[in-house]
Amino acid sequence: MITAPPMLDMRSRIVGLDREVPLLDGRRVPYVNLDNAASTPPLVDVLRAVEAFMPYYSSVHRGTGFKSRLSTVAYDQAHEIIGRFVGADPRTHTVIFGKNTTEAINKLAYRYPLEPDAVVITTQLEHHSNDLPWRPQAHVVHVHALPDGRLDEDDFDRQLARHAGRVALVAVSGASNVSGFIQPIHRLARKAHAAGARILVDAAQLAPHRRVDMRPDDDPEHLDFVALSAHKMYAPFGTGALVGPKEVFLHQPPEYSGGGTVDIVTLDEVYWAGAPDRDEAGSPNVVGAVAMAVAAQVLMEVGMEAVAAHEEHLIAYTLERLREVPGIRIYGESDPARAHEKVGVIPFNLDGVSHFLAAAILGYEGGIGVRSGCFCAHPYVVHLLQLDEAQSARWRRQMLAGDKSDMPGMVRASFGCYSNTDDVDRLIEMLQRIARHDYRGEYALDRKTGEYHPLNFEEPLADYFLLKTLARNGG
Ligand code: PMP
Repeated sequence: MITAPPMLDMRSRIVGLDREVPLLDGRRVPYVNLDNAASTPPLVDVLRAVEAFMPYYSSVHRGTGFKSRLSTVAYDQAHEIIGRFVGADPRTHTVIFGKNTTEAINKLAYRYPLEPDAVVITTQLEHHSNDLPWRPQAHVVHVHALPDGRLDEDDFDRQLARHAGRVALVAVSGASNVSGFIQPIHRLARKAHAAGARILVDAAQLAPHRRVDMRPDDDPEHLDFVALSAHKMYAPFGTGALVGPKEVFLHQPPEYSGGGTVDIVTLDEVYWAGAPDRDEAGSPNVVGAVAMAVAAQVLMEVGMEAVAAHEEHLIAYTLERLREVPGIRIYGESDPARAHEKVGVIPFNLDGVSHFLAAAILGYEGGIGVRSGCFCAHPYVVHLLQLDEAQSARWRRQMLAGDKSDMPGMVRASFGCYSNTDDVDRLIEMLQRIARHDYRGEYALDRKTGEYHPLNFEEPLADYFLLKTLARNGG
């Protein structure tokens, strides 16, 4: 039994943990957010910094007033801080702000020089955002996952050797958003570099949980590119970043051009700006960048080692306690002693209960937010569920016909640095109830979405937050 108390208490530093939410039976309970792999709530420090900054917010770079100068300095500082957060060398590397990890990876897919016969090696474990952007640009090879969901590194070695001389880039996630498995990114980097390739780490899921260190360029295990999202690291203000060598971005025009991307324009010619301006087209999201930087500073100050240790304890505790739930099937690692091999993402199913239904009951009757389905990683989820081709083909046909009711999937519980054993206890209690079929609601299946919703229940959203809408006539 794992009894050590959590080592880190971040609860007072997170916005909204005191908020109660309505349940189906009319009660209100404090919300338990176990969907942090999707998005985390904001840090109090982030919200305060945004409030402090807003009165001075103004356009950046070309404004001449005090507020513009101040905003420009804050925006430039945000670049530096994010660079430091991932251990980038400011002399050689640039930090490009954009919307999120998806945009960052798409940007790299357009900006990275790829010969027509170039190979990009990625893996079966990826989020679609680190797979689909590569497909139109190169010959994409997916390294297999082992039956337990870990990366098949022998297959990685084989693929690297098979495509020797053509591999331009290895694109891997730092940690899986489905199983939580942490990839051996530095070892893969060494192998990629030895093969003459560079490596991109999709750190969307790694950066909130573990220290990301790109390491110096002359270290054979350095990371060439890192992509990350602020909304997964307690700063949900619409920003993400791509970090990589400046020189890569200085050769070609950007994929988006326009204001801010140029030094000089004549009617016939364009002189592109340097990094990162060339790659941050239009007016940037200054507030988002400031928020992301503050979150990074808090995480650095708290220490990613402390975050990791806290989380390891919580994962071990959860895996131990999940054994008390009848009919549970955990995917990926289920041994508490191996909790350190993953970030706090635990996918599971309950025997005989649709993942959609389990997730709905957790939400409507337990006040617990999770996620269910395939988590934007269809190939990996199909692999973990061990579906054969005939089963996969059947549900694909059904889904294409507009019926998601049999969509395979899992329920995913995922932690933030503030999650604690009370959150886990609430989850276990509800899962035990669901396993006993001890729940109150009558749920109707929406075949189009696959989701379940309780009958005769209207959520009192307006009691909490809703935007005011104008009547159609403008009144
Ligand atoms: N990669 C991984 C591993 C992720 O978990 C996610 C988000 N679930 C993404 C990429 C995409 O991130 P975003 O939605 O912020 O672009």
